[in-house]
Amino acid sequence: MIELDIYSNTPDEISIVERYWAMNSDGKFKESVKDLLPFYHITSTTQLSAFIRSISQAWDMNQICKQCGRYQEVASRSEIKASRQEMHQPCAACQRVIDEELREAEAKIGADLQRRLATASELASSRKIAYIDLPDDIALILIALERAINPRLFTSTFMRSDCRALVPCYVGDFIKKLYKSVAIIDNPSEAVAGTYFVKDNQLWHKSDQVVYSLTPNSTLVANEDAFNTLVLRPFDNNKAILNLWLDYATTDCMRYLLDQCEMHGLYTTAEDDEEIQSIFRTALRTYSVAHMWSAIWKIVKDAASLSTRTYYNREKAAATIPGKISRFLEKVQVGQVTLKRWNRPESQPSGTLGQVFKEIFGIDEETEGTTVMSIFADTELPYSVDSKLSIGELAEPTRQLMTCALARGMEAQVMLLFADMVRNGTDTASAINSVFKAFPVFKKPES
Ligand SMILES: [Zn+2]
Repeated sequence: MIELDIYSNTPDEISIVERYWAMNSDGKFKESVKDLLPFYHITSTTQLSAFIRSISQAWDMNQICKQCGRYQEVASRSEIKASRQEMHQPCAACQRVIDEELREAEAKIGADLQRRLATASELASSRKIAYIDLPDDIALILIALERAINPRLFTSTFMRSDCRALVPCYVGDFIKKLYKSVAIIDNPSEAVAGTYFVKDNQLWHKSDQVVYSLTPNSTLVANEDAFNTLVLRPFDNNKAILNLWLDYATTDCMRYLLDQCEMHGLYTTAEDDEEIQSIFRTALRTYSVAHMWSAIWKIVKDAASLSTRTYYNREKAAATIPGKISRFLEKVQVGQVTLKRWNRPESQPSGTLGQVFKEIFGIDEETEGTTVMSIFADTELPYSVDSKLSIGELAEPTRQLMTCALARGMEAQVMLLFADMVRNGTDTASAINSVFKAFPVFKKPES
């Protein structure tokens, strides 16, 4: 049965609506729609249904909404049910309310997000830092990043995917360090829609979509000029630099491991990768990256041959890799196996951070871990020059410094840094101290 509301006073129109919906007791329509034609100027059944909808509303008494207990509104004969049944979906009226509530909730979420983004943008754009105060590890990553995306660090914005030349892999981890220390800021207004979202009442972002830029320098010196002095500053936080080297050298090992695994169709899980990174990080305190490459090559080759055996498959074989690395290194330690030294693979550049380590500290993939540890050991400086010393008393430290510089062809760098510090008001003795600290390779005077 149909319940009707007719919004017309014209008898012909009232009659056509009633005839359209009229049913027998068995639930069949009395007349076919075709038999109702023509009506006025209407000659097609579709047009007639549309006209009826425009002057009336109909509800099917066989369809009862679970939500509101009312009948379902129907637009045409095809929507009618022959027998009474409970509806699985809310009725059209309830659905309109639900849709409206959803729209309102979404609009509220959208407005909340926009408010948070506006605050975040405002905060980011007001951020400034003194480049001179950046911690050593952050300064080193920043110097390397400038080379990796040259000239964009000073001229425009960049995303993680633009920074691949920075390190052999896990670029995101290094960008995250810069972001956390506010050396770089994000620009919400430049990111694609969906990059930022609110979760647990906090603003979150999808790191791969974030648009970054260099945080402006807070002193009167222009960004680029202030940045250029970073290279000349003393790098003396050995602990931070050592940690950064281990992070970097681990990516150099991981990249080789992942490439070797891919070549053999082996894929390690994220948890395994985390475990392997820890093993590498520890091993790199003793061995060079080049040594680790030869170990990785052998271990992955063994795992690959294991994968072809009965009861083994690629997943199981890949899962043995962390254990194999540990056992292999144990054998090396007790002298059962000797590590070979692999050359840097053609397809694996050291990254600009590797270049920076080579230039400033003279270390690379061939440097033994033990050497790295001694370079960045927390030892006292060779000289503690008292600022009250006379020129005569400064003679020996100065001679020693110049000897070191000449021996390594670093006279220009030493003089520039020394001059820069004195110009900035540092006294002579402290400047000599700082130059020693800036060039860790000078720590053991060659005499
Ligand atoms: Zn309803």
